[in-house]
Formats: sequence, structure tokens, C-alpha cells
Amino acid sequence: MVNGACAACKHQRKRCRPNCLLAKYFPQEKMEDFLNVQRIFGVNNVKQILLSVNNEDDRNITAQTLVMEAQFRRDNPVYGSIAMKNQLEAENEALRRELKLVQKHLKFWRKVAEEHIQMKLIEAQLDKCPLSLSAPDFDGDVGEGSNSQ
Ligand SMILES: [Zn+2]
Repeated sequence: MVNGACAACKHQRKRCRPNCLLAKYFPQEKMEDFLNVQRIFGVNNVKQILLSVNNEDDRNITAQTLVMEAQFRRDNPVYGSIAMKNQLEAENEALRRELKLVQKHLKFWRKVAEEHIQMKLIEAQLDKCPLSLSAPDFDGDVGEGSNSQ
């Protein structure tokens, strides 16, 4: 019976037996995944790879990895997943540089804000001081400033 068969058996027009190795990883609705994997690796290689993994969890991850690698190869036949890795590394590097720049700006503006707060505190203290009518200018004159000569 082809009806109810996994994607692999359906594609090969074979009867899907209860012990079908590929049924778990390529159910009928995963036909596209199966076709990609089959085109890139070949059905026998996929079976061999899956059989070489003993742990069931690892075998699941292996099947998912084969599906992903086949998709990458379909999208980029020359570099496959390496193209995505290179792109992600380049994005990562650009984001690291941006983060460094943002941290530098943050440090600068924090310093500016601190200095601004210090200035405001000094101004507030000067305003409270009964002796000073206005902020002193630093050449010793009090009042109009240094422009009045
Ligand atoms: Zn099957």
C-alpha cells in the first residue's frame, strides 16, 4: 500500500512497513524535505547515516541536520551551510563593532551628564551663598564680567 506510506516509500512507490527506518523522520507531509535530502545525499546514504547513529535522540538531530544541510545545498549549491555560517559571522562581527561604538558613546554621554549634574550642583550652591550676587568670573572681577573696560 502506498497510501499512508512515509514520504520516502511513497516516492519510491514501495510499501511502507512498520519497521521503515525513514517513516519517523519523513512522514508523508515532509515530502519536500525528503526530496531535498534524497537529491543531495541519496536514499541509501541517508539510511546508512541514520543507522550509524545509535541513540534515538541523536538520530532525530541527525535527520534534522540532513534536512537543513539539504536545504542549504539547494539554496546555495556551492557553499551550502558554510554560506549561512559566513553570513552570520559577518553579521555578528558588524554587530560587535556597533555594540563597541554604542558603548563608547554611552560612556561619553554618561560623563557629559555627570559633569552637567556637577555644574548644576555648583550653581545651586552659589545661588544659596549670601555673599555672591552672581557667578564669579575667574579674572577677579565681580558683576558685569570681563568685557567691561
Ligand atoms: Zn516508509
